[in-house]
Amino acid sequence: MEETMSRIVAKFGGTSVADLDRIRAVAARVKREYDAGHEIAVVVSAMAGVTNDLVDLTRAAHSMHDAREYDVVVSTGEQVTAGLLAICLQEQGIPARSWLGWQVPVRTSDAHAKARIEKIETEEMERRLSDGQVCVLAGFQGIGPDNRITTLGRGGSDTTAVALAAALNADRCDIYTDVDGVYTSDPRIVTRARKLDKITYEEMLEMASLGAKVLQTRSVELAMNHGVPVQVLSSFEDAIGSDLPGTLVVDEEDIVEQEIVSGVTYSRDEAKITLMRVADRPGVAAAIFGPLADANVNVDMIVQNVSEDGTRTDMTFTVTRGDLDRAIEILEARKDELGFTDLVPDADVVKVSVVGVGMRSHAGVAQRMFSSLAERGINIQVISTSEIKISVLIAEEFTELALRALHTVYGLDAA
Ligand code: ADP
Ligand code: ASP
Ligand code: MG
Repeated sequence: MEETMSRIVAKFGGTSVADLDRIRAVAARVKREYDAGHEIAVVVSAMAGVTNDLVDLTRAAHSMHDAREYDVVVSTGEQVTAGLLAICLQEQGIPARSWLGWQVPVRTSDAHAKARIEKIETEEMERRLSDGQVCVLAGFQGIGPDNRITTLGRGGSDTTAVALAAALNADRCDIYTDVDGVYTSDPRIVTRARKLDKITYEEMLEMASLGAKVLQTRSVELAMNHGVPVQVLSSFEDAIGSDLPGTLVVDEEDIVEQEIVSGVTYSRDEAKITLMRVADRPGVAAAIFGPLADANVNVDMIVQNVSEDGTRTDMTFTVTRGDLDRAIEILEARKDELGFTDLVPDADVVKVSVVGVGMRSHAGVAQRMFSSLAERGINIQVISTSEIKISVLIAEEFTELALRALHTVYGLDAA
């Protein structure tokens, strides 16, 4: 079938640009799309491992570093790959140039280290695309209202790619990575995970926010809001764009046979805090969670235990692991006011979730999860649910066992 000319944004993640050979392979792939007559803008991540090293360097320099300088440092990985890919494309006879976030510019909020893209001014880039130039944009970075470099949070190149696709009104946004699509669970842990041909924006959004790092949560949100067709595919397989059987992220009505559960995810980025024997009276929850919110500590799951005598109760909740020390400090400082006897922290926990839009119309989904975990002797510490997901907090040592058990019980195992 002959393809008409499309405008494509293609994003290549860290392992896809891990060394010069991989970058050359990316250039060859881009060349094939280019030779087929498409306009193509490429978004690149830093080489695998580089961003981690840069983060470590800023931490080693000072534990309480200035977030604006953190962004200056950690954004540099993408500059290297953007330049190298432009060189490799030129070497293959393709007119290409690199762009850093500020050069476009990709305008963001001022929340350094977790900035949000507000606007991408694509005029110049569009002119060059229609002149037949390939534009290579460094992902993960932008420029804030203070004219300083910002970064978008870990995994942020996905968001750069989707935002660019929306701004350029591209026909598709191809996310090339080291797996060939979105799976029913992390294929590195659940070997029987199945690749999904399609997944709804809504389910992908839940899966991403519940730990499936194949797409950054914000990128899915943007794709959903702007109707950007996103496709996740492997850069390690030798086929291009529309020939590849990756995973398409689509609207719900585009899915014919909907499973009840589409995916099982996990997040190790959790820590549990239990406050023992808090006063059981109105206003106590506000007194606990207010100061945490004021300090930007996000609280996720919460349970308040039944009080034995109607006067005191235990309160358990979760925060991200990185916020645990701060949360402890804030609560200990208010120990007298809150009246708890002990604060018991536990970082050896994991949140396991099952996600599926089919849950809306089926009963008993949660029961199956609970009994399947019980049969394996896995204790559920906290539960939280929404319309299309159920999450449980369990001991971290049971992560693999729980994922595999749930994958099987919901009929997701590959044949
Ligand atoms: P990139 O560097 O290309 O951005 P990431 O490491 O950020 O790649 O994301 C890809 C990884 O996401 C895969 O290697 C896989 O281990 C992990 N992953 C977690 N959950 C899923 C899932 N449900 N489907 C596919 N990959 C998943
Ligand atoms: N290089 C950045 C990171 O490792 C952004 C990305 O890869 O998407 O988080
Ligand atoms: Mg990623």
